[in-house]
Amino acid sequence: MIEPPAASRYAEAMYRRTFLASTVGLIAAPIPYTQLYGTGGIAPPPPVASGDSIFEAWKQGFILRTASVGLPMARVNELLAGLTPDPRVLAADQRQPELSRSMGDYLAGSVSQARVNAGTRQRTEGSVWIDPIAEQHGVPAEILVAIWGIESNFGQNQGDYDVVRSLATLAAEGRRRQFGESQLQAALKIIIRGDAPRERLKGSWAGAMGQTQFTPEDYLNYAVDADGDGKRDIWTSSADSIGSSGNFLARKAAWRRGQGWAKEVFLPTDGSFDYGLSEGERHPWAWWAERGVLPMGGQAWSPADAEEAAGLILPAGWSGPAFLILPNHFAIRAYNNATTYALAVGLLADRIAGRPGVLAAWPVETPIALADRIAAQQALASLGFDVGEADGVLGLKTRAATRAWQRTRNMPADGYLTFGLIQALKSQAGLSSVLPVSPAS
Ligand code: CA
Repeated sequence: MIEPPAASRYAEAMYRRTFLASTVGLIAAPIPYTQLYGTGGIAPPPPVASGDSIFEAWKQGFILRTASVGLPMARVNELLAGLTPDPRVLAADQRQPELSRSMGDYLAGSVSQARVNAGTRQRTEGSVWIDPIAEQHGVPAEILVAIWGIESNFGQNQGDYDVVRSLATLAAEGRRRQFGESQLQAALKIIIRGDAPRERLKGSWAGAMGQTQFTPEDYLNYAVDADGDGKRDIWTSSADSIGSSGNFLARKAAWRRGQGWAKEVFLPTDGSFDYGLSEGERHPWAWWAERGVLPMGGQAWSPADAEEAAGLILPAGWSGPAFLILPNHFAIRAYNNATTYALAVGLLADRIAGRPGVLAAWPVETPIALADRIAAQQALASLGFDVGEADGVLGLKTRAATRAWQRTRNMPADGYLTFGLIQALKSQAGLSSVLPVSPAS
């Protein structure tokens, strides 16, 4: 199976504000928090409720644990004084998308023409300072600009949650204690060292900050001073932001200089191709070519790319676009471990570089309700296929189970559950009368 590298920026990618999990196109990007909760900002502390005694107890314990890693207790006390949990953070952490969103719809939003235009302009106007950064880290300028665009709309949307409060909320709630505490310690370190004042540490509900949407730990480990003013400023310096992303991709994600990230391909349509090869073993280009896989639009493979082991993905199933993904696809996923994210960054970068976008058409899909996603997993389990937990997240394990089921029915084994396939699965497992049926809209 295709697995991301161990050095993943977020094993916890799920608590970022974007597209949960690595389900390919079946999970919707969550609604932006501004839509759900208003623009918010640092909310005034609400009156202390009785439940806040749990938060207070956690806070006192945390302060003691923080002292043991060398942070000055008096200063930490002062920084956390009056802090209360943020209910918006808990709501965002627990949110499950009700309806799936198709890959085509998702990419139309994240790689919009407006964003391509803005990225192209930034790339052109900033070449004097972007090009040396790209050269230094060996990461193409268009990849750095695309990440900048997707993470913060080129610095414009950095999020306005109070990062200290968000991380404290996640830590106190318990489910994310280890992540919350270690990131909160890193955030306090940033403030105490004087890298940034407390009020500048704003970001996403999950604690990602600045134009790069770095976690506090990634800031400490990978942020760089690219504009030479002596400060590592990912909040107001575009050069520091681009430089920090480049440093992160080169050092943490092992970006391979001189290589691409993926190539769209054309698969044989004569029925000979085994779609079960998707998300399977990786092979060099020549291996795929022997099986009739052709580069889409005549895009040639560079010698460096052709030698790499490439894996096949079918983000919208066998009837949609197909890609051979290269190691740099997984480097992008060190930023956010989702296929959807890597495709958005890579495709936006391609467009900024003047290359074509996706040539094959994305299929028109019926959205799938959460209840149906869970029902599909329950049906697969009842038929003897291992899906892990039936949680509505159609991840690698569910997709492997789907492939196995598809083989028993002589279907293309792409592992991709459409609305129609889910109805067939439920019917075969005798579940259709028990669970709600999605509206066929
Ligand atoms: Ca700087």
